[in-house]
Amino acid sequence: MNTKTINPQHLLFALILGVLGFIINCYPIPIFANVQLVIGNTFSIISAVILGPWYALITALLSASGLMLTWGSPHVYLIFSVEVLFIGYSRRKGLYPLYGSALYWLTIGMPLTYLYMKTFSDLPGSHMPFAIIKQGINGLIYASLASLLIVLIPKLWQFNGRSIARTRRSFNDQVTYFMTLMLTLCLLISALTFNYLFLEKQQTLLHRNLTETAVHLSSATEQYIENHKRVVEYAANFLSLANTSSNEWQPMLSKLHNNYPSFITMLIANDEAKVVAGSPGVMMLDENRDIKDMSIKDRDYFIESFHNHQVYVSPVFKGRGFGNDSIIAISAPFYHGNNATKAAGIIEGSLDLRFFSSIDSKNNYGDKELLVLVDNNNHIIYATTELGLTEHEDFKYSNDKGQYHITLDVIKINNLEATSPEYVYTKKKLNNGWQLYVLQPLSPLLKTAESQMLGTFILLIISIILTSFISRKVCQLLTAPLEIVANQFGQMSNEELKSQVIDENSSKEVFNLYQSLTASKRALLKHQLELEETVAIRTDELEQANKKLLSLVEEDPLTGLKNRRFAEDKFEAVLDFCLRGEHAITIVILDLDFFKKVNDTYGHLAGDECLRVVSGLLKNEFKRDTDIVARYGGEEFLLILPLSNALKIEQHLNKFKQKLSEVVITSPTSEQQFSVTTSIGAITANASFSNDIDVWIKVADDNLYAAKEQGRNKVIINVINEQVTEQKAQ
Ligand code: GH3
Ligand code: MG
Ligand code: MG
Repeated sequence: MNTKTINPQHLLFALILGVLGFIINCYPIPIFANVQLVIGNTFSIISAVILGPWYALITALLSASGLMLTWGSPHVYLIFSVEVLFIGYSRRKGLYPLYGSALYWLTIGMPLTYLYMKTFSDLPGSHMPFAIIKQGINGLIYASLASLLIVLIPKLWQFNGRSIARTRRSFNDQVTYFMTLMLTLCLLISALTFNYLFLEKQQTLLHRNLTETAVHLSSATEQYIENHKRVVEYAANFLSLANTSSNEWQPMLSKLHNNYPSFITMLIANDEAKVVAGSPGVMMLDENRDIKDMSIKDRDYFIESFHNHQVYVSPVFKGRGFGNDSIIAISAPFYHGNNATKAAGIIEGSLDLRFFSSIDSKNNYGDKELLVLVDNNNHIIYATTELGLTEHEDFKYSNDKGQYHITLDVIKINNLEATSPEYVYTKKKLNNGWQLYVLQPLSPLLKTAESQMLGTFILLIISIILTSFISRKVCQLLTAPLEIVANQFGQMSNEELKSQVIDENSSKEVFNLYQSLTASKRALLKHQLELEETVAIRTDELEQANKKLLSLVEEDPLTGLKNRRFAEDKFEAVLDFCLRGEHAITIVILDLDFFKKVNDTYGHLAGDECLRVVSGLLKNEFKRDTDIVARYGGEEFLLILPLSNALKIEQHLNKFKQKLSEVVITSPTSEQQFSVTTSIGAITANASFSNDIDVWIKVADDNLYAAKEQGRNKVIINVINEQVTEQKAQ
């Protein structure tokens, strides 16, 4: 952007669009998982289209700042700045913004996002295609939105400064683009909506499955514990009531254990907390460990049962003395007879936790469901092996969703700092205070979302290609007849109008247009013919008038002789011609004698007749093509006679003078007859004498004056031959 060309109004508008983009980008619309619809960038595209790439860069930087705040990732500056520059420039080249956007994301945007993620983000590789396609789809959505807004808000066109392509687009291109635009928007919005609803449904189903599994497994667990608790309790009751001696306890215990193999070990301790019976029996024979008489008085299960007189279920703990398994001890006190104040001992069973793995593996509610069972102290009682958790350790997890949009509860176990959760889960508290977590990996759900996104993207590309193809065909159907009409009417003659050039398949509107154009063209041709006729007539009339005017300019109307101006104008040409051949020229001035009297005696009309007769005689006597006979004014005449023979001219003039005097003129009114004489002054000289006609006329005029003086009816001529000036009088 050149500083000289910054338009403050455009700059302000770019800033306003940027602020709008910034605000909207602070609140991206969550769709699923980490997919968020970024609508604020719409303003950057509007800016690129109507203000050009550099103003759009300002808008894009502002809008991207909104995303920077929510996402905290600076790549938005890079990707969205390059985007508006690309779209702005491609717009100047005449590319529609949606096409520009598609081209940008396919060639630059998506590869750039990939490179950025690969270099700077800890996103797992499996999530990448999803994140990249999502970015591209998002780009197409806001480019379509921007295009639509520009079309719908005509006020934006006032900025159509430097970015609008100058070439006029074809109807075909326009229709194709708008169809593609509408289709892209409809397809994307409906695909996103359906994807969203589908994923919501999937999540509901998943949640129901998880909950059902949790309910089922927790009740099974409760049942399992309850059953074994009851076994221990009944055994203790039996010991109390049967009043057995301690040496009977061992076989009795072994028998009991046989019936309830879910206990890993069972034991009976006496009131001194000494183990007096144990099962399996081999345990008791183990010399090294010397279980018999081992004191368990520090064990919780002894203390709780013996001293607090209750059936006790312990938290999970690592067995000591009887093996290292993680166990839960269930213990109950027994008494001597009716003495319920002091226990005679306790009976204990260590519950086999492998039971959970069997109910876990038999759980057919969902294949990929994973279990974690923790006790009141949040110690793991059981965890599906895949989870890699250690029993009786603390169950550590994080259920922070972060930026993730998902309706289900999610949990991270392996990497508590990861940006994306690992599992969806549900938990249920058992009636003894334990918690059962039922987990399912999140990735299948993400995979579904991802394949849907990919499907949408492929569908979009196919649809754009199809739309473009179909709309081109539709446009051809519409424009072909129009083009025929346009082409034909340019050249059509009247004859061609009689045959119909448009086929029957063309639309009603086009046919109507064709008909009215035919009618207009016919009327036009008719009018043209009439006009041509009128023009021909007018041209003829004009030519006549012109001729008349020309003759008026050159000729004297009374006598039909050339007028003075014509004669004087012609003199130059005559002079030139004679100069070249060194010919002589004669200039003659004639003035009728006593013409006033003719008028006075016979009337003006007779005078006119006289002038006509004199003219006719002059024409007759001086009839060479080169001779100019002109009326000089009133009853005076001027003769310009080139190629004159100096020797014969005087004779010729005298002959004329003689002939005139002999002519009888009849008055047209009174039938009276009269004749007239003329005085003649002339000069014959070589053309080089003078190139000024006035000099010639002056000599002739002087001679005429002299002729008048000398009694009229006389010819006086100067024949100027070289230096010799001869004056002859007759
Ligand atoms: P002069 O011999 O000395 O030439 O005598 P004049 O009577 O011819 O004298 P002047 O040349 O002075 O008179 C010319 C007359 O010619 C005056 C005018 O009434 C007449 N005249 C000029 N033009 C026309 C014309 O077109 N028709 C008629 N009937 N008379 C004209
Ligand atoms: Mg005169
Ligand atoms: Mg006269």
